[in-house]
Amino acid sequence: MKKTAPKKIHALLLLVLIIFLTAKGIYIYSGREKRNVLQPITDTRFALNTVVTITLYDCTDKNILEEAFQLCNKYETIFSRTLTASELYRVNHSDKRKLSISEDLASLIKTGLSYSSLSKGAFDISIAPVSQLWDFTAETPAVPSSLAIQKQLPYVGYQNFSIKDNTLIRKKQENQLDVGAIAKGYIADRIKQYLIRQNVHSAIINLGGNILCTGDKEGAPFKIGIQAPFKDRNVSLATLKIRDKSIVTSGIYERCFTENGKLYHHILNPKTGYPYDNNLSSVTIISDESVIGDALSTTCFALGLEDGLDYINRLETIDAIFVDSKGTMHYSKHFSERYE
Ligand code: ADP
Ligand code: MG
Repeated sequence: MKKTAPKKIHALLLLVLIIFLTAKGIYIYSGREKRNVLQPITDTRFALNTVVTITLYDCTDKNILEEAFQLCNKYETIFSRTLTASELYRVNHSDKRKLSISEDLASLIKTGLSYSSLSKGAFDISIAPVSQLWDFTAETPAVPSSLAIQKQLPYVGYQNFSIKDNTLIRKKQENQLDVGAIAKGYIADRIKQYLIRQNVHSAIINLGGNILCTGDKEGAPFKIGIQAPFKDRNVSLATLKIRDKSIVTSGIYERCFTENGKLYHHILNPKTGYPYDNNLSSVTIISDESVIGDALSTTCFALGLEDGLDYINRLETIDAIFVDSKGTMHYSKHFSERYE
């Protein structure tokens, strides 16, 4: 009896210590920085018409995570083409040709117009008159009538828009914008900016597959899987080790449907009003800023393998993987030097 009592006390003390450390997390202090290496905080919600997951690895403040999700809602009510309460909806459905718009919308439209112009309209943020005819997420999606497409096509053309000091000018009231190809990248960048201001330096922002990393994970790079086209969401083509980068993919396999044996997907040719049919399955862009990755993934898809890869190879800080319809991967010039 006498001998076992202290042992029991020791065991009890050890148990109390373990519970305390597990509950609190173990804090490592380096300078003024406080990092929790045990319990990341994470949440997954439906927002921006997709599944959003945000994970913070060096922060235990749930209010910061909540605020990050609130930013998704804030920007959705600016950029959504379909939400009737959004700023873009108000702009698109106004009868005015000259409109005063918010700084965020102006900034995103400027980015969109510059990629529209550099791709000579293969990418075109004024695709809305045609893109609104297609509903890829409907319960029973259908190809729009060719008459409807022909009627709307003349209103597509980025040259019909200009922007100056937050004033948007368009030729006709039928000219409308669709920022769906770049909004998620812009929003991810804003969330990252917010997190850094809150002293969060280790996080992953995943807006439906548009991934933006903040820093790394305890000194080691994040491992991000590139989704294999037409496979289950967790089947990866490749896993990239990245620090502080954005990885964005545009593909034909998520927002799509089949009619009469033909696949229709959501990246549309502004010249025809129908999906691009160019033997590409997906384009993945690795960049610092996510809005650039988002713009380039859709732009390069629209440009096709040859022109798209050629364009990327002229950009020093951007890397890309193009996957063709046979599943063959084509890498940009610097890819193999930078990634295993
Ligand atoms: P995701 O939204 O799945 O991340 P993308 O970034 O490639 O995919 O954007 C596709 C969206 O871009 C479409 O849903 C549509 O809103 C818009 N879009 C479609 N075709 C074009 C195009 N040629 N140029 C610019 N935007 C386009
Ligand atoms: Mg895009």
